[in-house]
Amino acid sequence: MNKKYVAPPYRIKMVEPIKVTTKKERIEYLKTAGYNPFSLRSEDVYIDLLTDSGTGAMSHYQWAALMMGDEAYAGSRSFYKFEKVVKDLTGYKYVIPAHQGRGAEQVVLPQLVKHDNMVFISNMHFDTTRAHVELAGARAIDCVIPECFDTVNYHPFKGNFDLVKLEEIIREKGSNNVAGIIMTVTNNSAGGQPVSHENLRGVKEIANKYGITLLIDGARYAENSFFVKEREEGYQDKSIKEIARELFDMADIFLMSAKKDGLVNIGGIIAIKNDEDLFNQCRTFIVPMEGFPTYGGLAGRDMEALAVGLLEALEFDYQQHRIDQVRYLGDKLREGGVPIQYPTGGHAVFVDCKLFVPHIPYHQFPAQSVCNETYLEAGVRPVEIGSFLLGRDPDTHENLESPLELMRLTIPRRTYTYAHLDVVAEAVINVYNRRETLKGLEFDYEPPVLRHFTARLKPIK
Ligand SMILES: *Cc1c(COP(=O)(O)O)cnc(C)c1O
Repeated sequence: MNKKYVAPPYRIKMVEPIKVTTKKERIEYLKTAGYNPFSLRSEDVYIDLLTDSGTGAMSHYQWAALMMGDEAYAGSRSFYKFEKVVKDLTGYKYVIPAHQGRGAEQVVLPQLVKHDNMVFISNMHFDTTRAHVELAGARAIDCVIPECFDTVNYHPFKGNFDLVKLEEIIREKGSNNVAGIIMTVTNNSAGGQPVSHENLRGVKEIANKYGITLLIDGARYAENSFFVKEREEGYQDKSIKEIARELFDMADIFLMSAKKDGLVNIGGIIAIKNDEDLFNQCRTFIVPMEGFPTYGGLAGRDMEALAVGLLEALEFDYQQHRIDQVRYLGDKLREGGVPIQYPTGGHAVFVDCKLFVPHIPYHQFPAQSVCNETYLEAGVRPVEIGSFLLGRDPDTHENLESPLELMRLTIPRRTYTYAHLDVVAEAVINVYNRRETLKGLEFDYEPPVLRHFTARLKPIK
């Protein structure tokens, strides 16, 4: 390992054994799983890079905090602890917990949809966010800069909003038809790519000019703040916490899947800057959806662990190592010739499978094929982010073609070592070196909605 990657700022105190399988076994497991890694048993996976959501390791401070949970139904001491941390962090007046990110979305987004034909505009909607926008009767429009879709060339902030296009869409739709602008930090769907504060200020100005609510979908806000510190002029001497505070100051609402930068296995956050009416609506609505507003679907102990995790994610040493692990894997793959979204972002390396297996057309799910082969090679489980995930056009029922066909190698927080990442890199490079032999996939069974979770596939002969 090279000095240019920072070693972990923690040591290991408890271990969870993982099982190495043989290739012969993996062939059988994958077949049983219908060539869909979502259906594999985690026991049969050696290195699990399916997601960074809720899969990280907690610190001993968090495990100790769990024991302090106050499980009162109403007015739990753990809630007030959690609330204080979120208020200090954001400067917002109102805080409600939720069981995870989508729980926060299902409570808040419908409150912003006041009439028919409304839209949300985002740099890029995460898939559950899009689903809740649509369930609320609105439509989701993505408005990211075009550089985001060019995986080859460097751009420091591929998550940025296209500001010209944003204003065009608002003018075209009419500002009273825009339910909200959603800034996703980091931009999960396109490679965990960060957003600059210069861009955020631009979005804020437009939101102000047209009187539109600005939401932060901030599952990975701390990783974003780290990138701003590293890459944006004028932020080098600011702390991650100060940078995050600047981000919150510019927005009106903060929604968070705490399973990411909250460093917990389950949890979500709703924070509202100062709109008391909206807070009251959410507090009423959350009771039948998530639970009483002082627990929102969480146990008291979950809120304790989250109160600690939120602060740990702001530590520079933690963040520097976290981002370095991702960069390490990305650099190894690039050295092996593997095409990836460059530069690497915050939580995963995204392999560009359009370039990896150009002979497999989108409707035969090229990235899914590369994911499966990577599992067979070394027991590593990646996830497809491409046309398999995207699904069909609701009107024509044709397979939609995704602008990017990606294999996401998602790195859980504080969980794997650089040695594990070496195994991953070697596996992907081996697959790359025999890429011409990879075959496309077709459906054996296709569920009508969110097909990627439970579909069964088979290789095309
Ligand atoms: C994970 C995620 C969500 C949804 O959160 P869950 O905790 O999985 O429900 C929403 N937005 C973004 C950007 C995410 O990464």
